[in-house]
Amino acid sequence: MKANYYMTDFAGLKLVQPLLRALSDEGYATPTPIQGKAIPVLIEGRDLIGIAQTGTGKTAAFALPMLQRLSASAYRPQPKSTRALILAPTRELAAQIAESFKVYGKHLNLRCEVVFGGVPIHRQIKALTPGVDILVATPGRLVDLWRQKCVRLDNVEIFVLDEADRMLDMGFIPDVKRIAAMLPKQRQTMLFSATMPQTIQQLSGFLLVNPASVEVTPAATTAEKVEQRVLFVQKANKRAALAGLLRDDAIDKVLVFTRTKHGANKVVKQLEDDGIRANAIHGNKSQSAREKALQEFRSGRTPVLVATDIASRGIDVDGVTHVINFELPNEPESYVHRIGRTARAGATGIAISLVDAEERSFLRDIEKTIRQPLVVQNHNYGSAPGAAVRQPANEDRPHRNGGGNHRGGNNGGRNGGQNGNRNGVQDYGQGKIRDAQPANQDRNQGGAQTDGEKLPARLMNGAARTDEAQRPRRRRRRNRSGGANHAAV
Ligand code: AMP
Repeated sequence: MKANYYMTDFAGLKLVQPLLRALSDEGYATPTPIQGKAIPVLIEGRDLIGIAQTGTGKTAAFALPMLQRLSASAYRPQPKSTRALILAPTRELAAQIAESFKVYGKHLNLRCEVVFGGVPIHRQIKALTPGVDILVATPGRLVDLWRQKCVRLDNVEIFVLDEADRMLDMGFIPDVKRIAAMLPKQRQTMLFSATMPQTIQQLSGFLLVNPASVEVTPAATTAEKVEQRVLFVQKANKRAALAGLLRDDAIDKVLVFTRTKHGANKVVKQLEDDGIRANAIHGNKSQSAREKALQEFRSGRTPVLVATDIASRGIDVDGVTHVINFELPNEPESYVHRIGRTARAGATGIAISLVDAEERSFLRDIEKTIRQPLVVQNHNYGSAPGAAVRQPANEDRPHRNGGGNHRGGNNGGRNGGQNGNRNGVQDYGQGKIRDAQPANQDRNQGGAQTDGEKLPARLMNGAARTDEAQRPRRRRRRNRSGGANHAAV
């Protein structure tokens, strides 16, 4: 059976209050298509095949009904056993799923543990000894634990196989079959996969009984969802370029990346001098200062957060509209990680990199890794030498999203084409959940360097607010020299 309709609000999904509260704490207003389709079927107790990728909200689609069912019975887990088992192909995914269970189940009294390879097994053995309600595991480590008689799987009531096609690619299917053979016949089973190769179809025939099937069209990958641009700019002009970029109204929350902790502090100081409220987050800050900076960023009180790569690993904030690389990282993977801080939760996002002459080789490595050239944006901040080697994109350049709205392109305006429709596009893999605001074609025509242009009020620091009357003149003076009178950053 295929579920063709879906609920469009959480209240209609018959979820219990503690779950609805957790969803509201997270700010989730609307179920994603896979959630709207899968949750009612799973609450009925049916087996399910979900054809969906990460990024569609599939974790909550299986976690919410599972938490509901487990919390409804007074049954406690037996020692060394688990009531629900989720198999995931990688430790990153396993950890992420366990984290989601903690978030969605925070008002319930259920125990969740995660086990994966590559770390000592002893702590995991200890955690499993009293028994758990939910166990998230990678197949290899789970088989190891079972061989050592540290876990029993004969009490599993609910079994989830996540990213089944990746399990196949990674050679885990024999382990999966071994594990499935240890499970009780009487159980609820769900299988999620982005694609359905024949082996997975056969596997689902063997694992599932009369399953419902839900499918969402594939969501774009991070690199596709993020509109990426580069400004070739002299090192000494990066400060003016950053302040100019931050004048874009479309910026709601922006993460600015530097390579060093010292660099992050310096950028914050300069932004504050320029009237822009910002915090820094890096390894030299105390835990409480980091938490405060994150909290202020999350709440929107300080919408500019300047971070180093290491500190950014802990930043999981929805609604980051922009990432600005004040300096490029020397490792391409860090670039991918940085831009992934935007375009979370199905949204799209913009990543802008300020690249000086010394960073050209970093840029080449990044473009090789992401297998696409970055769109060059025109600007008036003083180009880096050699920038002419790379032409800015023009209107005729085919856009990778196939759209005619030329999101990343350069429209010849001084702010270089930031007038695409960015606000609040939620793409969870099946059309737009929330429609974007109509693009304001004129919004950025004046661009970052318009003399005397006002900062968006939410970015202003206290000094800037009281001092606003004087600001236009100060900025006019600065802009006439193209920002060159700023100290080098
Ligand atoms: P997943 O596909 O489960 O990895 O989820 C992708 C992202 O979507 C995660 O960051 C979730 O926190 C977020 N998310 C899941 N469901 C919703 C929802 N209904 N509304 C907003 N964000 C959601």
